[in-house]
This record gives sequence, structure tokens and C-alpha cells, in this order.
Amino acid sequence: MALDFSKHPCFNPDVKGKFGRVHLPVAPKCNIQCGYCNRKYDCVNESRPGVTSNVLSPGQALYYVNDLVESGKPISVVGIAGPGDPFANPEQTMETLRLIRKRHPDMLLCVSTNGLGVGPYIAELAALEVSHITITMNAIDPEIGAKVYSWVREDKKPLRGLEAAELLLQRQIQAMKAIKAHGITLKINTILIPGVNDEHLDAVASFAKSEGADLHNIIPLCPVEGTKFEDFEEPTPAQIHAARDIAGQYMPQMTHCQRCRADACGLLAEGTTQETLNLIEKAANAPINPDEERPYVAIATREGVLVSQHLGEAGNVHVYEQINGQTQPVEIRTLPTKGGGDERWAEVGSILQDCRAILVSGIGPKPTRILRDSGIKVVVMEGLIEEALERIYAGEEIRAPIRPTKCGEKCAGDGGGCG
Ligand code: SF4
Ligand code: SF4
Repeated sequence: MALDFSKHPCFNPDVKGKFGRVHLPVAPKCNIQCGYCNRKYDCVNESRPGVTSNVLSPGQALYYVNDLVESGKPISVVGIAGPGDPFANPEQTMETLRLIRKRHPDMLLCVSTNGLGVGPYIAELAALEVSHITITMNAIDPEIGAKVYSWVREDKKPLRGLEAAELLLQRQIQAMKAIKAHGITLKINTILIPGVNDEHLDAVASFAKSEGADLHNIIPLCPVEGTKFEDFEEPTPAQIHAARDIAGQYMPQMTHCQRCRADACGLLAEGTTQETLNLIEKAANAPINPDEERPYVAIATREGVLVSQHLGEAGNVHVYEQINGQTQPVEIRTLPTKGGGDERWAEVGSILQDCRAILVSGIGPKPTRILRDSGIKVVVMEGLIEEALERIYAGEEIRAPIRPTKCGEKCAGDGGGCG
């Protein structure tokens, strides 16, 4: 189905009174610290500070969108914009986009990011027909960036000062190039921070234009309590107009942005209604995966009582179901023998296609990825099967009580990977 890009109200102001967007708050964590953000509240990039959001799981987010569509809301765009950064929470973000694309093939999909972590996901975003991406870029000079960002975290280690700003800028530039190479519409958001980057916006706009960005959105700083810029003055309308005039020499300027909440819903000018708040509350109280229809759960176990086996070693899995609130064994399924490489795991995915999850005491990264790609939730844990099943069927998240294992550490393999 061909998507109608003209229905995005942020990119086409002519339809802002006709079509709306919903932001799905599935991304709570962030990988940088902007000087204007206090994440006790929402992401300032795309939201009004001081307004808290529910956080939804991908399954709850789909449930919420289904309800919104059924209620007749004129939603044409599903976006992910926080409350942290979508790509500091890539699993939740990508799973949500996959679910929405599958169930609502005519929805426009949109993400808004600081650009640090989006790079590895751009090809899949394009494959999912995510048509609009926003990167918040406050400076193209790391000296200025260092005044905006307190830290930037890659892996576990936070970088500070110039080093942090340089890394973020480098990632943003790589992401901009890749986004445009995939033909995705790119918007650049810039927070106008008086005395920090207000003299620099023309440089940002000119650079963004040279990288093929399509639209520029200058957003006035909203000083938020508890942040580095809490005592700054909010830019006046005259300052904002002047900044847009200057940057407008290089890039088309967005002038109708509403600085929406991370769970905004409806027409841009419409505040969040009680009806919407009720629907999001309902979704937040639903099981983690309310739409799950697959009846079974597979367990790698040696003795049938504990989740106790590494999948690489398992010759079979025990399959369970729940009927009238009672879990019970269904059968034991034989798995393909070791040695088939990726095909072995693809075959396991197909043998378990009616299972919503597999519980194992250990598993390598490759089978994890292949099984997840087959739509099967992989839970690494140790403990009683009965208790684990109750939680899985209640739609609860199981936090692994054991640390991840290195290959070869908890199985009889040679450390050469599960194959
Ligand atoms: S990217 Fe968004 S959530 Fe992260 S610190 Fe900046 S404004 Fe806050
Ligand atoms: S914050 Fe601005 S760009 Fe984002 S959805 Fe709202 S109006 Fe559109």
C-alpha cells in the first residue's frame, strides 16, 4: 500500500486541522543529558516539560493505537519521541514500530531522536517504511555542543565536555547521511538557547541543508526546574522570529510546532483530552502483551521442574499451555541437532511458532536474535517453571535473576558459538 506522506500534520501544515498524530511513550531511558532536560518530566525536544507520561510496552502501545483507531480519532501518524530517546531503548522502539506497521499498514511512522544511537537501525526503519525522522541538533561546533550536553553515554561509559559533544555530532552527521541515503524525510530540531547557540542557528541550518535535511524546527528553550538552564530567560517571540528568518535563508522553517508531550494524541492544536488519557491509562494497566494469541510457552529444562538448560544443549523443549488459569504440560518437542548453524535456529523458530516465549537458562546471541526475529520472546532465567509460567501468562516482564553468560561458560560447548 502506498503511504500518503502529505497526511503528516507536522510536515504539511495544510492538514494540521484534519489529521493528527499519536506519540507512543515506549522509550523511558536516555543516552545523553541535555542541559535543558529534567527527565522527571517529558523529553523537552518534543514535549512540554512538567507533564509526566505513562510508559507503555510495545504490546500495550499497539493496544492503545487499536483503541484510538476504533474510537474514530483522526490519527494518520504514529510517532515515538520519548519520554527519553527512542534509540536508548532500541528494542522497545523497533518492536513497537514492527507491531504498528503489521497491524496498521496505512499509518505513517515517525521517530524523533538525539541521533546518538539511531545509526544501526536506519536500514530497518526504512524497511518498515518509517517515513519521517527528526534529529535534535543544537550545534555543529563541539565547543558550543559542550555547553549544551552534560554527558553523552556510549555503552556504560559517560563522556563529558568536548569529547561528548564531538561523539554526538559525529553520530548525528552519520545518521543524517544514512537517513537521506534511504530516502527518509529528515527534520532537524534545534533548541534556541539564548547566549549559548542563538548566534549559531544559521550555521546549523546551512549544515543541515547541505546534508539534505528537509525541514528545520527551531524550538524556544523552556527553562525547566532542576536543569542547567533553569535560570535562563525563555526566548521572546521576537527572538524566535528573528532566528527563523536567519535560518530560513537555508532551510524551510516549521512554525506550527506544539512542543508536544511524549504521549500527545490528536490534532496538533488539540490538548490531550480526558478520553485519550483514559485510553492510555487503560493500555498502561493491560498486560505487557495484551494481544498475545499464541497459546504455548517452551521451556529448556533437564528435569521438568526448573528452567535449567542452555538452549544450545537442549535436544528438546517442554511445551506448556494455560487453561482456565491453570498451567499444564502439553508435550515435549524435539529440536534439531547441533551443527546446522543459522538454519538450526530458524528451524527451532518454526517448530515453536505457536509459542509466545521460550525460557532458557542460557542462550547465545545468534539464536537469541534469530528466535526474536521469528517473533518468539526469549527469556534467560533460572528458577521454578510453575512460577515463571504464571508470570508469562499474566503478561509480566521477567527480569533475569542471573547475569548473562559468556559463550561456553554454562554449556558443554567449546565457546565457538551455538551452531
Ligand atoms: S535527548 Fe530528550 S530525553 Fe534525552 S536528555 Fe535530551 S531532551 Fe532529555
Ligand atoms: S512536537 Fe512538533 S514536530 Fe513533534 S509532533 Fe508535536 S507539533 Fe509535530
